Amino acid sequence: MDEAPAVPVVCEACGTTTRVPLSEVANTVARHNSRLHDGADEAGVDPTLVEQIRDLAADDLIEES
Ligand SMILES: [Zn+2]
Repeated sequence: MDEAPAVPVVCEACGTTTRVPLSEVANTVARHNSRLHDGADEAGVDPTLVEQIRDLAADDLIEES
């Protein structure tokens, strides 16, 4: 359908996962938390994905050194 990279935004408090374009992640998280959780830090990027990104970054560091 669309080729924009979609990032899963997870909110455990709501039990929801929403895929949004990378450029919308910060806004989506901020809006969700402010609307539904009084600004509490509930929603965020899927922790599994964060770990994958960290692993990729680590691989790059190893290749360059
Ligand atoms: Zn929520």
